[in-house]
Amino acid sequence: MTARPDILWLRQDLRLSDHAALAEAAGGTMLPVYVLDDAAAGRWTLGGASRWWLHHSLSALSQALAERGAPLLLLKGNAETLIPALAQELDAGRIFASRLYSPWGRARDAAVNTALRRAGRELTLHDTGLLFGPDAVRTRQGRPYSIYTPFARAMLALGEVPQPGTAPERLRGATHPTGGLALEELTLLPPERQGPWASAFTDLWVPGEAGAQARLEGFLTEAAAGYSKGRDLPGQDGTSRLSPHLHWGEVSPRQVWDAVMRGGGHHGGHGVFLREILWREFSHHMLWHRPELPEFPLRAEFADFPYRPDAALLRSWQRGRTGYPIVDAGMRQLWKLGWMHNRVRMIAGSLLVKHLLQPWWDGAAWFWDTLVDADLANNSQNWQWIAGCGTDSAPYFRIFNPVLQGRKFDPTGDYVRRFVPELARLPDRWLHEPWEAPGTVLASAGIQLGRNYPEPLIRPAAGRAIALQALQSLRRPV
Ligand code: FAD
Repeated sequence: MTARPDILWLRQDLRLSDHAALAEAAGGTMLPVYVLDDAAAGRWTLGGASRWWLHHSLSALSQALAERGAPLLLLKGNAETLIPALAQELDAGRIFASRLYSPWGRARDAAVNTALRRAGRELTLHDTGLLFGPDAVRTRQGRPYSIYTPFARAMLALGEVPQPGTAPERLRGATHPTGGLALEELTLLPPERQGPWASAFTDLWVPGEAGAQARLEGFLTEAAAGYSKGRDLPGQDGTSRLSPHLHWGEVSPRQVWDAVMRGGGHHGGHGVFLREILWREFSHHMLWHRPELPEFPLRAEFADFPYRPDAALLRSWQRGRTGYPIVDAGMRQLWKLGWMHNRVRMIAGSLLVKHLLQPWWDGAAWFWDTLVDADLANNSQNWQWIAGCGTDSAPYFRIFNPVLQGRKFDPTGDYVRRFVPELARLPDRWLHEPWEAPGTVLASAGIQLGRNYPEPLIRPAAGRAIALQALQSLRRPV
């Protein structure tokens, strides 16, 4: 008699190493499956850039699994019915997966589990998407944390992060009667008619576990030591660019933590970098305990914030035509490469919600569609932080000045010149505020404001005044 196969349901854990669910399933015969379930996430269904990433990541994973003896089954449709039906069809024993932290992912897992239980089976979830799990720390009063610094302190007090596991050498794959879909049938890649969008993504990204490991090693040898300063300079490759790999679970946070600890521990740039990994952990802790995070302001009084939705303003921001060079460079970097430097995400986000009074959720939605690292926890938490309505937004009234930020963090203009080539010949002195440049300077740089580069949508002082007035209008003191 042959043993009943187990099912490994893969979602945001597209790797073979340090994979507790895979390790458990690898004890017997197993069928790895990925289900493209477009309807499950509601308005948080995968954005265009995420779909691009997923296509390539699944391609890499399929190959790696097949090489080890357990080809990946691809399905499309409602996982709530497909997973229990697959278990039935295979007469499967156990069903393993890595935990999802989003409200929709949790609800779907609960529904799948209910359906499985009706047939005497169960969904076993492992917590390998985080260092410890979303409920590992609580305040002395037993409540979840809402401020990063005490949260990070409590995380560090938990002691050593568990050592990451290795990948199984061989797997015993179960066969599926139909063989499922071909990757192309998931239609994850953007249609040709969208033109060149995403065509440059491959210049920067190598989705998949091998690409993630290469990125991690590259960061450790080239940028980790200088991360404290380098992380704020968008013109340099001073950050790890691990975010999409972490989002899709091509590398686990424990693997990253372990590699950084071996490289330099808590000191210098390495230590600052580990604090960023804890920000990721904090965002997931928040999403777990405050599932309304993507939809509603955590500071209730912000429900009355006087946003003035304006489709034309939003579109200028999305297209990188705000007239603020540092913001426009960021928005164009995002469109071209599916990623934007963190410092510029903050400046661009602040301009949108504070100077231009556009709702933070419109900015979050655009990021969701265009970022290869779009992540419900990190995106929502950071947009709430920028808008001032997050629990950790201190001070909530901070308003970034895009000119001063540009001068400070892109002093030689490398970043702006790379992504806003029409300003390339403008001297550094005027680069971050072209509207202040004398006409002769603009002319000799080939710039005609309002023609080949926009006037600012609003001047810095006026934008700041509008933002302050809006913040002061909130009914209750914050
Ligand atoms: P590094 O500086 O190398 O940091 C290493 C890792 O730490 C990152 O990969 C990420 O996993 C984590 N991290 C770093 N900064 C943060 C942060 N502020 N919050 C949470 N985790 C962090 N990050 C996403 O992964 N997905 C998003 O959708 C996302 N949306 C954002 C929206 C806004 C408005 C802002 C201001 C930030 C957003 N971030 C998001 C956080 C941050 O900008 C990115 O994680 C970072 O730029 C990714 O580049 P990196 O991997 O080189 O980062």
